[in-house]
Amino acid sequence: MLFLILFLFILALIFFWQSGVQRREAGLPGGRVIYTDTGGWGVVERPLYYSPLKLTGKPDYLVRNHGTVIPVEVKSGRAPDSPYDSHIFQLASYCLLVEKTYGKRPPYGIIHYNDRDFAIDYTPELETALMELLAEMRRDEIKNSVDRSHDQASRCARCGFRDLCDQSLV
Ligand code: SF4
Repeated sequence: MLFLILFLFILALIFFWQSGVQRREAGLPGGRVIYTDTGGWGVVERPLYYSPLKLTGKPDYLVRNHGTVIPVEVKSGRAPDSPYDSHIFQLASYCLLVEKTYGKRPPYGIIHYNDRDFAIDYTPELETALMELLAEMRRDEIKNSVDRSHDQASRCARCGFRDLCDQSLV
């Protein structure tokens, strides 16, 4: 269990570190604002798991609609102008897990902020960027440390890992 928590923590940390570079290279979708009815959202009881990639994750909700399953990730706080890259990658990993678990590719996932929802299209380009990121993470797992991927103090200032990170710029 401790290993799993540690792995998920490292996963989140690396998502954050790598997201800026990945987004620039991959042209990640910025998301489109949508209106949702939260009444149809179902809580996810257990984490989803895809063994070939050793990938696990638990979306906050799943929305079932005419045979399609859409993952929802809930983020506290007001919505940024467009979702953070780390949130997009996290949601993309849930889209992948949903596809592998339920056998049908979700066309998009939803990031739910306090005041706004974004639909993020699960495009082949986003999936490719995710796979490249996961491959890079596997390589980084055997390293003792991973270098910061940006020089933006503002990102560190709003980073939840700032107090733990030895590469923070603030
Ligand atoms: S504090 Fe800065 S360098 Fe460290 S994880 Fe956060 S964004 Fe990256």
